[in-house]
Amino acid sequence: QQTKTMQQAKTTCPYCGVGCGVTATVEAGTLSAVEGDREHPANFGRLCVKGSALHETLGDQGRLIKPRVDGEEVSWEQALDATAERLTTLRNDHGHQCMAAYLSGQLLTEDYYVANKLFKGFLGTPHLDTNSRLCMASAVAGYKRAFGADAVPCNYEDLEEAELVVVVGSNLAWNHPVLYQRIKVAKERNPLMRVVVIDPRVTDSCEIADLYLGVKPGTDAVLFNGLLAWMASKNKLDTVYLERHTRGFDDALSAAQQSARSVAEVAAACEVDAERLETFYYWFASQLHVVTLYSQGINQSSSGTDKCNAIINCHLAGGKIGLPGAGPFSITGQPNAMGGREVGGLANQLAAHMDYETPGARELVSRFWATDSLTPILPNGPGYKAVELFDAIERGEIKALWVMATNPAISLPDAVHVRAALEKCPLVIVSECAADTDLLPYADIVLPASGWSEKDGTVTNSERCISRQRGMLPPPGEARHDWQIICDVAKRLGFTEAFDYTHPSEIFDEHARLSGFENTATIPRLFDISGLVGLGRDGYDALTPIQWPVNAQAPHGTARLFENGQFATSDGRAKLLPITPRGPEQALSPSYPLRLNTGRIRDQWHTMTRTARAPRLMNHRAEPFMEIHPEDAHAAGVVDQGLAVLTAAKGEFRARVRVSNAQRRGEIFVPIHWTDCFTRLARSSALIDSITDPLSGQPESKHGAVTLAPL
Ligand code: SF4
Repeated sequence: QQTKTMQQAKTTCPYCGVGCGVTATVEAGTLSAVEGDREHPANFGRLCVKGSALHETLGDQGRLIKPRVDGEEVSWEQALDATAERLTTLRNDHGHQCMAAYLSGQLLTEDYYVANKLFKGFLGTPHLDTNSRLCMASAVAGYKRAFGADAVPCNYEDLEEAELVVVVGSNLAWNHPVLYQRIKVAKERNPLMRVVVIDPRVTDSCEIADLYLGVKPGTDAVLFNGLLAWMASKNKLDTVYLERHTRGFDDALSAAQQSARSVAEVAAACEVDAERLETFYYWFASQLHVVTLYSQGINQSSSGTDKCNAIINCHLAGGKIGLPGAGPFSITGQPNAMGGREVGGLANQLAAHMDYETPGARELVSRFWATDSLTPILPNGPGYKAVELFDAIERGEIKALWVMATNPAISLPDAVHVRAALEKCPLVIVSECAADTDLLPYADIVLPASGWSEKDGTVTNSERCISRQRGMLPPPGEARHDWQIICDVAKRLGFTEAFDYTHPSEIFDEHARLSGFENTATIPRLFDISGLVGLGRDGYDALTPIQWPVNAQAPHGTARLFENGQFATSDGRAKLLPITPRGPEQALSPSYPLRLNTGRIRDQWHTMTRTARAPRLMNHRAEPFMEIHPEDAHAAGVVDQGLAVLTAAKGEFRARVRVSNAQRRGEIFVPIHWTDCFTRLARSSALIDSITDPLSGQPESKHGAVTLAPL
């Protein structure tokens, strides 16, 4: 549909991991309207309030438009030269592994791919991690332990086809609203469908719940261990499935029985009603078509990986996987957390779903990238995960950090420590769209980047669906695309041929070729999009959403994984893990007696650099707040709408009080969005210690320990 002054383009929403398709209208050089793409399989025309306000968040105001070096505006040539020269000097003085990158689930897959290739392949440092570490690293580790690959088995249709949807640690109604709407409509159409919500807070997602379990924070593994033990005691296991397709059941059951001897004991540990708990167990065990959907409430924990595996164990034990309407389904927070995982954007990954520890992977990737002829230095072990990375900077081990499209000065736990590390780092390079962020004062080199509606590339959403983002508007000022900036620096570093791309379609093609390169029995990979090799620019421009794997066996993509009971492990069997539940590491004490929970609110995204531009998105919650149970408020002497301060061991948070019966007694909720650019008083990350899951490296952002006082 096109006239001389009006064009429409299909693109993808840049906010949450649902990855909704958007039809954008451009009139007279302005993106004037957006609507849901009726043909996109994620949303079929729906958009939530954030997505429908996308066109209200654009404009040149507040954008970075000129490169800067040491605070001075410079030309691109000068900025790129300075970046390459300073990286070279530090590498010559301190070795390859003094350099690091910290990326973002906001980047497009093509940006991610060239950044990973430059740092791990050609600069010879494994220290490249991403803010997706804060969001879903535990889900990745859980899938890999159970299935042998970071592979989400389900798709969104499964949520509609399920007889029971279990929502754990996720306020879907606010954070993945279109999925919530899809479940709600499916439930209206099928009165037999049930929804169970398991969450310490009574959230808007409870509106569609047939059963709500308000668990004590941190007890999810006890609850799901209890379910496994209950299924065994009631002969509700799928013994044929366990026998044919899994291993590890006996050990998993033994561990479950030790931590959950009876329903009453589990109910007491989780602080839920025993009868309601057993109702959930009965519903789960009696239905085959069950989807358990989980996100940050499970992942952001010092035992997040174990919690994921406790859930997966129950699905495997009941054979509730690889079927329509069945499976353990991790929902990612960001629009391209999955795409980042696919190219190797986590520090433990190498590329194309191969890890450093994958035998032969280093040689395979080195052959493919032809790194040997230039730099025979592909690192031989994993790099620092996000929190470890900033510790290494603080120790002086990392001398150069390139941050792209994220703000660790606000989003990482223990923000004071992160800022001290940034202060000490000899070279901080920041690629960024916004002119005013908490990170920019620490940057030696600032590189203005293009943003949504300006750049071309792909993203992968929570159901493994690869979609195009399409550029419709020119970047403001001198802003450039991230992939171009990275390649221009790489060429100045001497890697001319390897980074000689003229369009993101060429990068995507190489990524697709690598996914299928020698994908044989030696290093088999589930992530294989070799069926998308050779699209050319026209085919890439016309690419419609498709779910990986896409290869010779599945040329039209793959809606659901593990339908044949074959997993990506060496023996083809899924593994049940013995789980010994552990509580939060951030312990409550007489000084800090209240449990802090952090999260998103409905109408804002991350640090609000975009969503705060739309007045109607600010109307929902116009200022930072803390949500408190009435009895906790009374005990602390604070009142609804009054001001109060939360104090933790390493920082404090001042905001208005919202007294709410939706909170459990002893637990406080604060939003993550407000940064120093809005107020210096309400930075939630100041309250969270930098404790991580030892398996996934994901911070325990849902389990702070604080005390409350009136202001
Ligand atoms: Fe965007 Fe997520 Fe809303 Fe869809 S549900 S429109 S992807 S924010």
